[in-house]
Amino acid sequence: MGMERTIKRAFLTACSLALGFVVALWIWPGRYGQRSVCSRCGLERWESEIHFGQLKTSLGRAFQDETNAVSAMLMNHPIISGHQHDWIGASGSGGGGIWFSKGVGPGRHLWQAVRSTNVANFLAELASARDTNSLLVWRDRLLNPRQSQDAWFAILTAENERSGGRTLVEAAEEEFRNSQLPGH
Ligand SMILES: [Zn+2]
Repeated sequence: MGMERTIKRAFLTACSLALGFVVALWIWPGRYGQRSVCSRCGLERWESEIHFGQLKTSLGRAFQDETNAVSAMLMNHPIISGHQHDWIGASGSGGGGIWFSKGVGPGRHLWQAVRSTNVANFLAELASARDTNSLLVWRDRLLNPRQSQDAWFAILTAENERSGGRTLVEAAEEEFRNSQLPGH
């Protein structure tokens, strides 16, 4: 009888230890991070939040803005500087408890363009020519997740294939239009 009781007690102890272990894993504090890109100026923001595992209680938030070639140019332009940032999620990662997840957002399609010095120089050229209309048109293309890569590539290609007396902007415009035709 005594033997049986000892086994039963040992079993219950093991069960509660296992349960405690699972609960500890569940609420273990985790850190979540998300990187976003502003669709008005190209600025990148890294936001992080700490909370108890699967519980939604936040223990603290922090964010850090990271300038890139394009945002440095656009934020200095009087037409764009005074805007409210409009964040598009690009990537996220983190985990609490026994979970770890990675997320991706459409903002990741903007990275190539916003970090390109060729793109920043191109926009600076439009700004110095006081071609505000073209500047805004190209800004919107470059910061649109569906057009950004085509716009970035058009600018790069235009620099290499400028011919027949076309300006860089004219060449880029043609490259971009061609890339938007069906079949591309
Ligand atoms: Zn912005």
